[in-house]
Parts: sequence; C-alpha cells; structure tokens
Amino acid sequence: SVAVVLFTADLRLHDHPPLRAALRAADEVVPLFVLDPGIHAAGFDAPNRRAFLADCLHDLDASLRRRAGRLVVRSGPVVRVVREVVAECGAGKVHLAAGVTAYAHHREERLREGLGDSGVALHAHETVTTVVAPGAVTPAGSDHFAVFTPYFRRWSRESLREPLGAPRTVRVPDGVRGGPLPDRAEVPGTSPGLPDGGETAGRDRFSLWSRAGMSAYEDRHDDLAGDATSRLSPYLHFGALSAVELVHRARRRGGPGAEAFVRQLCWRDFHHQVLAARPKASAEDYRTRHDHWRGEKDAAADISAWREGRTGYPVVDAAMRQLRHEGWMHNRARLLVASFLTKTLYVDWRIGARHFLDLLVDGDIVNNQLNWQWVAGTGTDTRPHRVLNPVVQGRRFDPDGAYVHRWVPELRDVDGKRVHEPWRLPEDQRAALDYPAPLIDLADGLDRFRHARGRD
Ligand code: FAD
Repeated sequence: SVAVVLFTADLRLHDHPPLRAALRAADEVVPLFVLDPGIHAAGFDAPNRRAFLADCLHDLDASLRRRAGRLVVRSGPVVRVVREVVAECGAGKVHLAAGVTAYAHHREERLREGLGDSGVALHAHETVTTVVAPGAVTPAGSDHFAVFTPYFRRWSRESLREPLGAPRTVRVPDGVRGGPLPDRAEVPGTSPGLPDGGETAGRDRFSLWSRAGMSAYEDRHDDLAGDATSRLSPYLHFGALSAVELVHRARRRGGPGAEAFVRQLCWRDFHHQVLAARPKASAEDYRTRHDHWRGEKDAAADISAWREGRTGYPVVDAAMRQLRHEGWMHNRARLLVASFLTKTLYVDWRIGARHFLDLLVDGDIVNNQLNWQWVAGTGTDTRPHRVLNPVVQGRRFDPDGAYVHRWVPELRDVDGKRVHEPWRLPEDQRAALDYPAPLIDLADGLDRFRHARGRD
C-alpha cells in the first residue's frame, strides 16, 4: 500500500508524526511538497522566506535520499496536485500536519472535500507545529486564553508526547515524479546576511546553542549586542525543528536558561491559540479597538524613515537596518521599533506588521500579527499603555553602544555612552555626522499618543 505525506510548515524528518504514521501503515510513502500559487496570492512568500524555504526543501530531499527516498516537489494548486499524486500512486491515505492558521485550516477543508469522492482519507496530525494543540487547553468559560501567565501555568502542566526519531528508510514508489527543487540562488531581493535554512542547519544550531548559550539565556536574552538568543525562529517557522522536541531537550538540560527558553516557546503556542480562536485578529484589533491611527497617507515620511532606519533614534535605526540586512531582528529590538512606530509615531500597527512580513525570514502570520498587537496595545498586553522610550531602552540594553556601532556606521566614532542621544553632542561634532536629527520629539509623540487614546 501507498500513503502520501503532504509536507507544509513541517520540513523535517525528526519528530514528524504524519511521516511516522504513514510509514507504519504503508509499504511505500510519497513525501510531497507543493509549491502552491495560493501562498503567493495570500502575500506570504517574501524573498527571504522563499530563499530559506528552498534550503529547507534541498535539505529535506538530501535527508530522504540518504534513506533511500526523495522529496517529490510539484507546482500548482494544492488540491489539484494532491489529487493527481494520489491517483498516480494509488494512495489510500494522505497525512499532513493539522493546520494552526486560518489559511491552513481552509487548505485542510479543501483537501478533505477534494479527496472526498475518491475514498482517500485525510489524516491531520496534531502537535506537529505547536507543543500543545491550539484549543487543547482553555480557561473556564472561554475558547482560548487571552492572558499569557495563566496560559503558561496551564500549558506547563500538560504532558507532552515523546519526540520521534527520524525514520531509517523511506521507500518512495518509482513512478511518481517531481519537478525541480527551487533554488535559493535564483530568488532575487534577499537580504545579504540571511542564514542557511534546513533541518540539518537548524539541528546544528540548536545543539551548539544549547551547549554554549542556553545557560546564559535568562540573563542575556535582552542584550542587543550580545545576540545571545537562539536564532531558531526561522527553523521553527518552517518546521525544520520540532517545538515539542526542543521543549524535551531543554527540560532535560534544565536550569534557569532552559526554563526561560521553554517559556518563550510557550509564547509561540499562546499566540497560536489566540489566533486559532480569533482568526480575524491577523488583521483586526483583537481586544481594544483604536480608530485614530495614522496611515500611509498621513504619515508617509515618518513611515519611510522608520522603514529605512533614519529616524534619528540610533537604536531604532540600528534595528531596522539589521532587519533589512539579515531578515531577522532581535526580540528586544522588535519590541522597541514596534512601540516607536505605533505609540510614538502613532502609525497603524498593520503597516509595521506588513513591513516585517516583507523582510523577516521567520515572518509568521501568527507571531508577527499578535506580537504587533501586543505592542500596539490592541492585543493581549495587560499594560496596553506602556510606551518604550528608545533612549532609555538603548542605554539599558545596549549600554556600550556596540549594537548601534554595528549597524549605524555614521555613529561608529561616537562614544558608546553618548551614542543614544547624538543630538546632545557638541555642535561641531554633531554637525560633522551624516546622521539625521530626531524625526519627532519624544514628548510630542507621547502627547499625541495620550490625546489619540483619549479620543478612542
Ligand atoms: P529566542 O529568544 O531564542 O526564543 C526561542 C523561540 O521562542 C523563538 O525562536 C520563537 O519561536 C519563540 N518566541 C520567542 N519570543 C516569542 C514571542 N514574543 N512570540 C512568539 N514566539 C516567540 N516571531 C516569529 O517567529 N515570527 C514573527 O514574525 C515575529 N514577529 C514579531 C513581531 C514583533 C513586533 C515582536 C515584538 C516579536 C515578533 N516575534 C516573531 C517574536 C520574537 O521576537 C521572535 O520569535 C524572536 O526574536 C526570534 O529570535 P530567537 O529565535 O533568537 O528567539
């Protein structure tokens, strides 16, 4: 018998429940990935993610070939392609990861309908993407947790399935052909500092970081220049790593660093269960609605200065330039640039979220939109009125100015203690810098914020 495993955002062989189930029940398996134009139409395929995806597919194919198999990659609308493959190989079942986004749910429904008349069953497996399935734990009287801490408490008590090893052999039927794999080198417009994608690169990174970085994570995760976080987010986004396996491995290692890391993975699950219950929150204010945002028309100059990293606030500019260069940004930096855009410039969070999605290699409709809402004060933050001051944040999380020096070469010669307020430098030194004056006075920003919130 033959089964099809449809890979989506789970591009790995380790800890892959759909693949394990298919191999158990069938003699041969077709590992299928579909390059679906629907992803493009939905606006999800930015260059950095396309390039990283190409790496993931090559790595998955190479790992399958070492196990006597191969990855079958085809292009076209997913339902049509799956039906074709099923008909060609005579598969009795299609396995895939259960969807955790509205897009993936819809795809699952369409597949179920599309396969209905052929008698082929579709089996969607839970906990492939998240540690705990969205909706598996709920508070009394609601379908999801709206506050993180009680969710974390509840989540931490869940017993997790054991992670699965990678299969030894994957036999693929001869007759099923695939097209060429996409090539990273052929994707235009990628960031120069983009990391290598793929399960192998992700596993290597986790092993290295868990030995060398995890124990200091709790103390150092906010240190902008120290860059002490795991940088695993793109691998998690594409499912090149399993969150369930990471939680097990971190807990085995133990200690405050491991606990803090597991807590961050819980944030990922938290946002997933919010968006699963409220899919509209990817575009609409989740908890508190605000009507007076400035949009592209009112704030075009401010928005482009923010996007290009020339706001005149060094730590904001450093972060925005890191994003463009690496397709990635430190979490503390994401918080402060998002606060600056939404609360100091009072620009609609959707405009910032779109820019992030255009560049982030880990850009993820769940984590991106809900973190933006968290910062903008429309989402799940229990202190929605907090405003992060970029000077205070810079001094605190980049005390020596090393992060600013790395990304804003115009300020390289400014002493680290003074680099967060270049406008306070002596006039001759200030004038010699090819660096913009602050886009806005922070006090004016705060006034506008209070005024707008008063009207909302
Ligand atoms: P680590 O600190 O090593 O954390 C480990 C993992 O935990 C991360 O890889 C990530 O999967 C998860 N995680 C950590 N913090 C969060 C969080 N706040 N929310 C959800 N998951 C978290 N993360 C994305 O994966 N995709 C996004 O598109 C995204 N957009 C964001 C937008 C804004 C405005 C903000 C404030 C945060 C955003 N984040 C996003 C969350 C977080 O910034 C990144 O996950 C993190 O910086 C990735 O770096 P890391 O892998 O080194 O994280």
